[in-house]
Amino acid sequence: MDCDKTLHRMYYYLDGEITVWRRWKITRHLNRCPPCAQGFDFELELRQVVATRCRDEVPPHLKRKIAESIGIEWDERPQA
Ligand SMILES: [Zn+2]
Repeated sequence: MDCDKTLHRMYYYLDGEITVWRRWKITRHLNRCPPCAQGFDFELELRQVVATRCRDEVPPHLKRKIAESIGIEWDERPQA
């Protein structure tokens, strides 16, 4: 599995809309690929902050800005 697919499926992973098999493949990729693991941690953390501190979605431009600041390429439309 390559990085693009991992990043796209990461969203399904986080939403719980994914099979055990795909979840395993993503986990395996993250273990082998530090940049993707970093992106995953970032998304996870962002969601937790949003879930616990406010009810609004983080604006896409802000999300991208944060991602860029820590050196992650961010796709705003993962399901496109
Ligand atoms: Zn990767």
